[in-house]
Amino acid sequence: MATVLDNIRESISKSNSILILTHENPDGDAIGSSLGFMHALKKIGKEVTVLIPTANPMYSFLPGFNEIKKEIEDYKNYDLCIALDSSDLERLHVCKPYFELIENTIVIDHHITNQNYADVNYVNAVASSTCQNLIIVLAAMDISIDKDIAECIYTGILTDTGGFRYNTQPETFEFAGMLAETGIDISKIYRLVFDMTTERRTRLLSRALNRLELLEDGKIAYTYITADDVEELQNEDGDQEGIVNYGRNIEGVEVSIFVREKGDKYKVSLRANEYVDVSQISAKFAGGGHLRAAGFEMAMSLEQTKQAVVEEIKKQLK
Ligand code: 5GP
Ligand code: MN
Repeated sequence: MATVLDNIRESISKSNSILILTHENPDGDAIGSSLGFMHALKKIGKEVTVLIPTANPMYSFLPGFNEIKKEIEDYKNYDLCIALDSSDLERLHVCKPYFELIENTIVIDHHITNQNYADVNYVNAVASSTCQNLIIVLAAMDISIDKDIAECIYTGILTDTGGFRYNTQPETFEFAGMLAETGIDISKIYRLVFDMTTERRTRLLSRALNRLELLEDGKIAYTYITADDVEELQNEDGDQEGIVNYGRNIEGVEVSIFVREKGDKYKVSLRANEYVDVSQISAKFAGGGHLRAAGFEMAMSLEQTKQAVVEEIKKQLK
């Protein structure tokens, strides 16, 4: 019987022109897996376009970043569409129509909430990251991992594990070691993704920290940023990444809530420490994610959003 990996190999081998998509507000795993797969598919002679309308410039050190397209002319130019790190169609946001229109589709992901929305779905939710799953896919396709591919994939594993802290399995280190052997600059990557920041990001963080509240006997941390903050501080999409962790790091906190105004909605990020299943809470609000890191959007006021989310979390607090 053909396995999912056989089907991926077959689907790719019969296609010539491939469009790679990922989720909105793409993080290191989303951008790393997209560019890593792009390099790999080019190595076997495919024409590949990575379409990411808003790619955070903090990842501009990745090889191939300048080749990312913000838009494409016609979906008809592609015979295969691959979605990476995106748990459902809605997460593809403005790119969703391309995925629906292109004839053949593949999904590679690691979200427990994945909806298996492609013709071929490779979803291993145990893996640290989509990039880790991509290593398995590349091995099945006999594509060797060169330095460019390794730099992209390593960045995705590093960011999704928060520096090998979360979702990290023994094999994650084995894969990381294999990637390191290609000669990538481990220290540089770490510094660029975790240490380096910008003035605008720091000022946004400062606002969020000033507003931080502790609720439910200090078991929940809550903060937010508004569209006015972002406008005033001239922030870019992605500048908010990581703010949610500050609440979680406070002693006694089990769940950190970070809310960000986004158009006419509020985007909620949740992080848990030890026992609250935030993927379940996100699923209730039509979002998704992982056991201890998840998110969703709310079409209510800020105050209503806060109340609704706190009520759901309270049901799981010990
Ligand atoms: P973040 O809080 O960093 O935006 O996302 C944390 C995790 O939750 C990520 O794995 C992300 O894919 C998932 N996630 C965040 N927002 C949404 C959403 O609106 N829908 C779904 N399905 N997953 C989300
Ligand atoms: Mn991921």
